[in-house]
Amino acid sequence: MLCQAASCMAVKVAVLDPEKECPASSLAYRHVVGSFRDVNAVREFAKQCDVLTVEIEHVDVEALDELEKEGVDIEPKPSTIRIIQDKYLQKVHFKRHGVALADFKEVTNFEDAEEAGNTFGYPLMIKSRCLAYDGRGNAVAHNKEDLHKAVSSLGGFERGLYAEKWAPFVKELSVMVVRGRDGALLCFPTVETAHKDNICHTVEAPAQIRKDISDAAVMLAREAVGSLQGAGVFGVELFLLADGQVLLNEVAPRPHNSGHYTIEACYTSQFEQHLRAVLGLPLGDPAMKVRSAIMYNLLGEDEGDAGLTILQNKMRKALSIPGATVHWYGKSEIKRKRKMGHITLVGEDPLLVRTKMQEIIGNESPSSW
Ligand code: ATP
Ligand code: MG
Ligand code: MG
Repeated sequence: MLCQAASCMAVKVAVLDPEKECPASSLAYRHVVGSFRDVNAVREFAKQCDVLTVEIEHVDVEALDELEKEGVDIEPKPSTIRIIQDKYLQKVHFKRHGVALADFKEVTNFEDAEEAGNTFGYPLMIKSRCLAYDGRGNAVAHNKEDLHKAVSSLGGFERGLYAEKWAPFVKELSVMVVRGRDGALLCFPTVETAHKDNICHTVEAPAQIRKDISDAAVMLAREAVGSLQGAGVFGVELFLLADGQVLLNEVAPRPHNSGHYTIEACYTSQFEQHLRAVLGLPLGDPAMKVRSAIMYNLLGEDEGDAGLTILQNKMRKALSIPGATVHWYGKSEIKRKRKMGHITLVGEDPLLVRTKMQEIIGNESPSSW
């Protein structure tokens, strides 16, 4: 999607990806087959670029540090990627900067984990520090006896774990923030995200919440991104508690699933905004140009042809609905729970947009609709 935005602005994007036929390969100006976790591959790749950026945080940050010292222009800064890729360091960083978040504690053995349970109570969230996505590094312990199961399901303490106090949220919110090379910050509107099995399922923009809460979410997101270095867009995931308090969940240093709706719904998409930011071009207007938008993730429900048919049927349905746009990522293989594409529906009446999305996704609609 970055490549799609780049082509409209005469920006040439070279892509480093280990898979020969990765989704970006047919859209990129150049695709280099190689691992973004391999120092030499990243160094060779960087030689071809004016600016180096990431759309995944699980990259070799040592390599980026070295390259930065050698003068390679990297946005956002490697220091930011280093903080974010270790979720425990990320929490320490934001706590130090006064950003509101749930209590947390590093756990390196069962004594630590039990102590976290005693202090924070249950349910207790145990999380992997690194390489987590789509909830795959999370496990919930409902009581002290559950701790063993939770820890072993994450691969044990060797993997690097921390405990997080349960956030009894009533909604999950998200704000995309963009920072230009001059440090200027702009925020997209606050949206509501709904997850299924820890995976983002739908995003509604703007979030149907009180204005003061939406403003508080934007303030917190600004504060979080303001504490990080470098240009680009950042996805800020938040929890809204019953008393109206907003807490930070985590930040992604890149375009984010909760910002896909911006392609159809905002004057400037998150992808165009990211390119403008890292290239030092004027930032675009992040405001919505429609009153309402809902994005639905096309998650694999089965494998192979059977999986393809299910998602094709949903896309076919969407194509018959005015205001709906389909995005198919062209990933090589359909797997259960894998994000294969998404559908965005826009309109002028939030209730009507929900009703139309319900026509496409039926009983998968969030219960709050
Ligand atoms: P992503 O794909 O967003 O990177 P991730 O694997 O990094 O996900 P988190 O964002 O930490 O995982 O958590 C995934 C989901 O689990 C959250 O969106 C939320 O629904 C739930 N969750 C996470 N932390 C907590 C918490 N402390 N209390 C309650 N629920 C939580
Ligand atoms: Mg994450
Ligand atoms: Mg998350």
